[in-house]
Amino acid sequence: MNSKKSAFRWFARLRNMLSPDTLAEHTRLVKHLASDYGIQVIEHDSKGNARRWAKAELDLIAEILLLLGPTFCAPFRTQPIRVWIDHTPGGGSFGNGWLRVGEPGRDSSVLYRIFLHESTHASNEYRGWPYENTFCTRPGLDWQRVEGEWTHPRQQGRAPQPGTWETLPVDSRDVSTAPGEDLAEMVRYYVHSVRNERTWLWPLDLSKPPVYLWDTSPTRFVYVRDHFLALPGDHPWYKRLSPDIEKQAAANLA
Ligand SMILES: [Zn+2]
Repeated sequence: MNSKKSAFRWFARLRNMLSPDTLAEHTRLVKHLASDYGIQVIEHDSKGNARRWAKAELDLIAEILLLLGPTFCAPFRTQPIRVWIDHTPGGGSFGNGWLRVGEPGRDSSVLYRIFLHESTHASNEYRGWPYENTFCTRPGLDWQRVEGEWTHPRQQGRAPQPGTWETLPVDSRDVSTAPGEDLAEMVRYYVHSVRNERTWLWPLDLSKPPVYLWDTSPTRFVYVRDHFLALPGDHPWYKRLSPDIEKQAAANLA
């Protein structure tokens, strides 16, 4: 490409970026996230740590919230959560209504994956901790309260072993840290498995179908689908396990 042409394209792109249409579109997307899902996008703070969101980032979060559905988002509509991207890279967190995502750089999957995990904490908390209070001690979820401490038969750091209990077959994001972490990761794994996002289904055997991940914890799969997200049967993420496994998981959760 000659330099005149490339300069022209560069200016066209810049004009496009700064045009009132793009600003209007940005404002529209920010308003849409607030009004439809209770997500307040924070792009400025007094310390100058929060940065402006790219359109692709606003689109990504709007798309994922639409799919996560009304049950997941309902509590935010009455009590919005504030979500910000930190100039500083690294991790994410949720507390006191604020959800922080460390600078994802060029890898928008970082924003996606952290948002799934942290917004699950938020939805669970705003709904009064249904996982901890009602579900996590059921068979198949297998948590127990022992002398005020949560325990799981698979303790943190132990290699995945078959047992009379269910667990996710992952090491790096172990379910047995705490019920809240178990939930945040099971929702993330649910989404990745039903969307066939294999990159994040580590250490799933690539020769197996994505929902194979749930062979070792079908109750978690059904819990996310039917209770935590309460997806309708015609939702694109509504996948089914084998009929007898479905029956067992439903009995565990009944
Ligand atoms: Zn967490």
